[in-house]
Amino acid sequence: MTDDRINLIEADITTLAVDAIVNAANPSLLGGGGVDGAIHRTAGPELLAACRTIGGCPTGEARITKGYRLPARFVIHTVGPIWHGGTRGEPELLAACYRNCFILAHTHHLNTLAFPAISTGVYGYPKDQAAVIAIQETRVALEKNQALRKVLMVCFNQETRLAYEAALGSSTS
Ligand code: ADP
Repeated sequence: MTDDRINLIEADITTLAVDAIVNAANPSLLGGGGVDGAIHRTAGPELLAACRTIGGCPTGEARITKGYRLPARFVIHTVGPIWHGGTRGEPELLAACYRNCFILAHTHHLNTLAFPAISTGVYGYPKDQAAVIAIQETRVALEKNQALRKVLMVCFNQETRLAYEAALGSSTS
């Protein structure tokens, strides 16, 4: 059973004392609005300095930094796809974001992770479809990686929570 290790929570992701929080970043990794801005504000200028040395991140990939002034030890930065109607590889790219975050979590021996609903803010990905992908990829990762104890899906609004509840309830695993 994997779903008992998935928790839906309503919180500001920057307050969570987990091994890593995931940042829905943009390809520059130099900060932005939404969750990205909140993470950089709380982590402090050391995070921006660390991101500068990375030199960007293509859509669908992920990079890891320390968490600096955040309660989380690490930040995994991933760049979700911008929604263009679904015909430009958006589902595959969003799934790749989750997969690449889980690979980094595994290689860094991280046991607790918190995700925002990647791409569903400014990038416009429909929340219900994004939640299905998030839950699907999380189940696969939890199945493969027994050391992963807890994956928190952070619902910043009610619509996001309902989308995750539907995705958890309507799937077969
Ligand atoms: P994207 O550009 O990938 O769409 P956004 O930051 O605009 O990224 O939004 C991604 C999701 O993160 C949205 O569901 C938004 O409501 C949510 N969000 C924004 N701020 C926070 C926060 N402080 N903690 C958790 N989730 C947040």
